[in-house]
Amino acid sequence: MPKMMRAVQVSKPNGAFELVERELPEPASGQIRIKVEACGVCHSDAFVKAGAFPGLTLPRIPGHEIAGRVDKVGADVTEWQKGDRVGVGWHGGHCFVCNACRKGLFINCEREKITGFSYDGGYAEYTVVPHEAGVHLPEKLESVEVAPLLCAGITTYNSLRNSGARPGDTVAVQGIGGLGHLAIQFAARMGFRTIAISRGADKAELVRQLGAHEYIDTQKVPAAEALQKLGGADLVLATAPNSEAIASTIDGLKPRGKLLIVAAPFDPLKVSAFTLLSGKTIAGWPSGSAIDSEETVAFSVLTGVRPRIEVFKLEQAGQALAKMIENRVRFRAVLTP
Ligand SMILES: [Zn+2]
Ligand SMILES: [Zn+2]
Repeated sequence: MPKMMRAVQVSKPNGAFELVERELPEPASGQIRIKVEACGVCHSDAFVKAGAFPGLTLPRIPGHEIAGRVDKVGADVTEWQKGDRVGVGWHGGHCFVCNACRKGLFINCEREKITGFSYDGGYAEYTVVPHEAGVHLPEKLESVEVAPLLCAGITTYNSLRNSGARPGDTVAVQGIGGLGHLAIQFAARMGFRTIAISRGADKAELVRQLGAHEYIDTQKVPAAEALQKLGGADLVLATAPNSEAIASTIDGLKPRGKLLIVAAPFDPLKVSAFTLLSGKTIAGWPSGSAIDSEETVAFSVLTGVRPRIEVFKLEQAGQALAKMIENRVRFRAVLTP
């Protein structure tokens, strides 16, 4: 067994991703160690790089779309064995005793741990996580293709299935990046009339391949106007963190329609309260816990949903994140150690 491992860490705010040798972490009681096979790069990893997130301390190894195998099991862990396929997403553990946990709302735990923020994540050869953060994975999917389902996937799948939208309803997906390209696939396969909203004529063919029934190119027509021409949306799922683009969809909702936000822009959302008086709502959704990830993966296997990925080596983490932020990755960057 090696005593050291390769990892990519951030050691100062706005510093580079540094490739370092770190001591191999040991799983304490209630923890499992994972040999990482793949880790997706998420927009929110930029918060780690910036050193700006509540409770974040540096140095930190980012990464919360982890797929691999259980390598070592700590004391008092009953549901995991060495060799099990395992994943970890954004939800990195919970306390079991706060009021949210007592209601089963683990993602709202008052002491929720976030993988790659509260503790070191998956930009490494190994990582150690609390047992309850582990996601059981099927053998069927490659690690590089299952990893993005554990943040981008669960966030869109779980928000859609809890949105209140029903089969046949019109669901518009704003943005077609890492989250959006999965949201389109999920929405179409859940039986929604699916509209993709983005910029540029070049995306029309692509969104149809993903399953969208309609495409709105906001370079040609404002989103709300185009949505109303199509009869209005029961639900808009906002997946691209751009407050102006998100707000521009609200007048495209039907009365009683809902704008559901799963990717947060820094800028506040500017909304006319008048438009809400027809019964429209604006809401957000947190991703989900391990069982939600397992159900996301199961639905993906059942219906053929797959992320489109570009694979990078661990040491290329900086390049992968920069390329994603500049929107040049189609659609999810995944690191392999
Ligand atoms: Zn994420
Ligand atoms: Zn709790």
